[in-house]
Amino acid sequence: MLGESRSGLSRRSLLGGGLALAGMMAAVGALDARGPGAVAATRDLSAFRAAGAVRPAALVRAGQKFVYPESWSVRPFSLSSVKLGQSVFTRALNQHLVLYRAYNVDKILAVYRRNAGLDTKGATPPGGWEEYGPNPDAQRWGPAEYTRGQNAAGAGGCLRGHYGGHFLSGISMAYASTGEQALLDKVNAIVDGFEECRAALAAQTYNGAPRYSHPGFFSAYGEWQFSALEAFAPYGEIWAPYYTLHKIIAGLLDAHSLAGNTKALALAEGIGHWVFSRLSKCTQAQLDRMWGSYIAGEYGGMNEVLVELYWRSSDPAKSEFLEASKLFTLRTLVDACAAGTDTLNGKHANQHIPQFPGYLKLAAELHDDHYLQATKGFFDMVVPGRSYAHGGTGEGELWGPAGAVAGDIGPRNAESCAAYNMLKVASQLFFNDQNPKYMDYYERTVLNHILGGRRNNESTSGPENLYMYPVNPGTRKEYGNGNIGTCCGGTGLESHVKYQEGIYFRSADQKELYVNLYLASTLTWDETGLVLEQVSSYPEGETSTLTVKTAPSGPLTVNLRVPGWSRGVRIEVNGQAIPDDVTPGTYAKVSRTWAAGDTITVRIPLALRAEASYDRPDIQALLYGPVVLLASSSSTSYLKVSLADRLGLDGTIRRGISKSASNVFTVGTLTYEPAYNGKDVAYHMYFQRNEPSVSFAGQDSGVANPKRAGSTLLDDVWARAPFAGRSAFLDAVGEVTATYLADGVLTSRNRQKILLAAGRAPIDSIN
Ligand SMILES: [Zn+2]
Repeated sequence: MLGESRSGLSRRSLLGGGLALAGMMAAVGALDARGPGAVAATRDLSAFRAAGAVRPAALVRAGQKFVYPESWSVRPFSLSSVKLGQSVFTRALNQHLVLYRAYNVDKILAVYRRNAGLDTKGATPPGGWEEYGPNPDAQRWGPAEYTRGQNAAGAGGCLRGHYGGHFLSGISMAYASTGEQALLDKVNAIVDGFEECRAALAAQTYNGAPRYSHPGFFSAYGEWQFSALEAFAPYGEIWAPYYTLHKIIAGLLDAHSLAGNTKALALAEGIGHWVFSRLSKCTQAQLDRMWGSYIAGEYGGMNEVLVELYWRSSDPAKSEFLEASKLFTLRTLVDACAAGTDTLNGKHANQHIPQFPGYLKLAAELHDDHYLQATKGFFDMVVPGRSYAHGGTGEGELWGPAGAVAGDIGPRNAESCAAYNMLKVASQLFFNDQNPKYMDYYERTVLNHILGGRRNNESTSGPENLYMYPVNPGTRKEYGNGNIGTCCGGTGLESHVKYQEGIYFRSADQKELYVNLYLASTLTWDETGLVLEQVSSYPEGETSTLTVKTAPSGPLTVNLRVPGWSRGVRIEVNGQAIPDDVTPGTYAKVSRTWAAGDTITVRIPLALRAEASYDRPDIQALLYGPVVLLASSSSTSYLKVSLADRLGLDGTIRRGISKSASNVFTVGTLTYEPAYNGKDVAYHMYFQRNEPSVSFAGQDSGVANPKRAGSTLLDDVWARAPFAGRSAFLDAVGEVTATYLADGVLTSRNRQKILLAAGRAPIDSIN
């Protein structure tokens, strides 16, 4: 696996090995001639509703595809409501569509079919973690056939089925984005294949009884991983059974909502009932220990999909889904985060991040503020104090101490699954609380980490998505074999076919629109009639123009995101600057009755700036607007970079730089590529800022840059930028040098040299 090739050990690498148990097991039982309905009738499961054919179709059709809780004051648009135009994101979308159009769904179905004893139609599994493993036939074990420790072949293959769930989500998203019939056909073929496998599993017997505990059970391996988890089997004996199940249910829900497949909803309902039937028998202490178990208890967003299922389902026993969702609560984590007590150090990041969208949906459904406060507290523990410049978090999949960013740089920072899931947390928090910080984080992460994680390379075999997006000096992205079958390859199947999801949101009362991302696109808002076209080359260009193509039926307030890092943003409506303040880190509001042809122009000046890491002022990244720039270099120690001499009156880096149309910069001897470009070369995300002498715009004073209390004279001068003009700049140099003189860290002779250099500097002509 990829992790092994980089560092010798992946925490997800397969433990164990050795004894093969193949052959120990009897061959898969013959299909039970009674069929799933008959099996169900023999059970004392009063709340059970079978998936598939026994499910009344009328009830399924009554299910709602998109349900949003009343408490969400802001809500998303469906993926099919927003069409992407040409932008820096286009290449990743198109490259993924090549994969989806070419990929044979029999490969996706192979692991499920073999497990169910069905013909695999000559297909082999995708590979990577999505493989049969050393013991696939034995691993059809039902709960009654398995005793703790029986799987001595290691966890190889024990995550199989997860990638197929992601694939079903991704291809459903791709269909919603394009409307292509061939993609819809593949969605339906996968769901049909899943249902065939589920029915075959439900018909299997062991010692004359149904092999599995519930006819809703569906998986690409036996039920034993779930029963073994309840007996506290560790990672290595099992992998992460509920993690896999989450991906399958999420895929089914996406096939339902995005591709209209009602069979998918019925399958998910059957799984939901089965999950409830298992977990409702567990004690609270047992659940606490299971969900606290490293990797083995990793359940992805099981709690989220079960609430979603509860919302969409019209099943009379759907309350089981909500009850099951609550059973996934990791109480120690929720309580600590709600109390603002940071317990993340040493925890596996992506084991825990996906739980929070589930907690937010539980908060909404149960009107339980505790879950909401926990998620807000959690977000603030990760952003900014555990976030790298591109929005990534973690080292070697684990979190470090609070506030350690530069202090936690290692060889394997920033797992891409973690970024994928943090975007869900950020957007769902925004639905509750329109704090612009959530969308500032969203833009940074989706543009740099997610888009940059997609290798700029077409493939018909894999997602070409990185695993880690590391930040250490001279590092490389973990592309490996394109991450076919890994967790990050799985989330990568989804990330690049849903870029439209974060551009626009709407208020619950349908009276306000939020424009979060400046990204070429067209929104069709059915409830108001608005059709809005955004033309933009941002972040390669500065101006985005939104044109009302079809006017909404009534007055509408448009909230335009003014990025927290921005300066001098100008917004015009039909050529007139809006009268209200345009303040960085807010939404500018425009309320009016709109007519077809009305335009909103948003100009966001883009400039180079250095951004210090959270915990080390001297360890910095270079950004151009929202774009993180990566210095091309294979040196494995921090590059020393001086920038003070290049600053203009506004405090941005302006002197002696060159820029290409595609945001490739040259600053001094270094070339910087945008983090989003998907190149596979050695790079530095961070450098060490080094300002040895006091110099302004090419005028070197010859005086060593004096230090004082963790700061330097140049830091203190430029902390006062932007300057209104040359005299304001000279005043600042005069005042700061006076305080250094008074503190005894600058002689009056050297102060004079600095003032002379500042006076000679052509700083007002830099642009
Ligand atoms: Zn991952």
